[in-house]
Amino acid sequence: MTDSLRLAVFGDPISHSLSPRIHSLFGQQLGLAVDYQAIRCTVQELPQRLEELVRAGGTGANLTLPLKQAGLRLCRQLDLPARLARAVNTLSLDEQGWRGFNTDGPGLVLDLERLGIRLGGTRILIIGAGGATAGILAPLLERRPACITLLNRTAERATLLAERYGHLGQILGLGLDAEPQGPPHDLLIQATSLGHAGAMPVIADDWLDQEARVYDLNYGPAHEPVARWAESRGLAAHDGIGMLVGQAALAFEIWSGQRPSISATLAELPRLAIS
Ligand code: NDP
Repeated sequence: MTDSLRLAVFGDPISHSLSPRIHSLFGQQLGLAVDYQAIRCTVQELPQRLEELVRAGGTGANLTLPLKQAGLRLCRQLDLPARLARAVNTLSLDEQGWRGFNTDGPGLVLDLERLGIRLGGTRILIIGAGGATAGILAPLLERRPACITLLNRTAERATLLAERYGHLGQILGLGLDAEPQGPPHDLLIQATSLGHAGAMPVIADDWLDQEARVYDLNYGPAHEPVARWAESRGLAAHDGIGMLVGQAALAFEIWSGQRPSISATLAELPRLAIS
């Protein structure tokens, strides 16, 4: 038995991860001793690394790229977001084995609520249909937006996701070169990885309402193209650091039974450390 909550995040690459810092802040906030390590791990190594964590007294783990799908096979039980996204980012150990969760989408919704961004009845435009979008669609659709338009460079990925989630609400998948129809959207969620190359997708002015809010899943330098573009159009833009802290807070709650405050954590997390 250990007095600390012993946890780890596995991924490859992993040295850039902010998770150890975030979970250490959660521990301080809630008065809990937390030992949270970032461990480099390939898909093949994952079962062995998890066994090592358990032997060392570990009871929970986060999985990041490229392990979110591999983690599914190791869980005896999955929550609904993990089943729908076909990916897990959080594992929690009980007597029977690992339970798997996907807190990415619920973490985004928590952050949108923190920012006062309404989802019910809203017209949402999402650009990008990769793993992150697969994780956020179900929690967004649960909030009953008027519709989600999903645009992606590879049109097929957008149409496949729209088909997979169509039973949960109004969602249309199109290629990035398509013209979204109907009134302008109230919320843009930028979910491509283009920001890491210093770019962003082309978004026509008439796709968005003049008062639209903009949420970029990217943060740090990768958010800068969207921040500059939104500023030039007088739109309010938010980066994805709150989603990162939100998904971590929900994972921490699964492990400890206590939910840390996202706002208090963001205030403590020095922006300079984000890269
Ligand atoms: P994926 O690699 O699964 O998907 C990448 C997406 O970006 C695809 O839709 C891809 O389109 C699109 N894309 C890539 N290059 C281009 C390009 N040149 N032109 C147009 N579209 C392009 O990544 P994820 O979905 O996992 O992550 C997306 C972003 O969100 C990343 O930048 C990631 O860092 C960030 N993220 C942030 C999180 C947070 O907590 N804030 C959590 C998860 C992710 P195509 O399908 O055509 O290849």
